[in-house]
Amino acid sequence: MKKMYILLILILFFLMSACRFNNDSQIVATMFSQYDAAKIISGDKLKVSLLTKPGDDAHDFEPTSKQLSEIKRSKLFLYTSYEMDTWLNRNVKKVIGKNTIAINVSSLVGLSGNPHEDLHFWAGTNNYLVALEKIKDEIIKLDSVNKNYYEENYDAYNKKLKQLDDEILAYLKEKKDVKLYFSGHNGLESFSNHYKIKVIALSSTNKPDADLSVEQIKNLINEIKNNNVSFLFTEELKEPRVARTIQRELKKDNIDLNLLELHGYHNLSAEDFKNNISYYDILKRNFVNIKICLGDN
Ligand SMILES: [Zn+2]
Repeated sequence: MKKMYILLILILFFLMSACRFNNDSQIVATMFSQYDAAKIISGDKLKVSLLTKPGDDAHDFEPTSKQLSEIKRSKLFLYTSYEMDTWLNRNVKKVIGKNTIAINVSSLVGLSGNPHEDLHFWAGTNNYLVALEKIKDEIIKLDSVNKNYYEENYDAYNKKLKQLDDEILAYLKEKKDVKLYFSGHNGLESFSNHYKIKVIALSSTNKPDADLSVEQIKNLINEIKNNNVSFLFTEELKEPRVARTIQRELKKDNIDLNLLELHGYHNLSAEDFKNNISYYDILKRNFVNIKICLGDN
């Protein structure tokens, strides 16, 4: 009886540790865009986790000690770049486990050497599509038994995104000299270069929360007035403080300025995360807002 009891405890202990192991994320991503790619390709076969909490600023991300051990136990660690993930101190080997493969997502994508564009490379749909394919290859290396499943998931998502991308490219090609005024930080260069439009960012800094001088705000107000601009784009996840100031100032002259979001894919809001919003969904939202701005809603 006693032996049976010990055996039962042993089995229970074994099961518990097996469960704990299965609860680990095989793939850990620092930022939304690579999380999205890995999650859609993995489907229900692998567990993928996103380190930057929904709603948080991806530029300020620092891992907790719990997240550091999650990275160590992972099989695939997808970080954005040393420029974005400054907490890595340019040495990813220090944080990964001996069985972890670490991928610098920016190095998967052929970059132009423009520091602003390189920092925010994921905002260019072309760059995202390259990363998507290479992440798929890494996932297949990790779990080749399910190769066909991953290929199918990749093909379906890639096709859907390419269709939307082509539609946007064709639409914008018809429009001449598209200029979008943007009150956020300068994180949309790869987006605007890909779609051959101008995104005039209010702030030339490539990080959020820059304090703008009264002079800078005045200049933008004048530019908006002189160009008869009626839409100002705002960035995601930030209270559009400056945009609202400009809106109020213009209202004094009876000018209505409408605010629309142009999402830079830094991170999802808690609600979007809960609703499984994808990179595709955000691109579609951006397209809808661009059409509204250009009078084609
Ligand atoms: Zn940014």
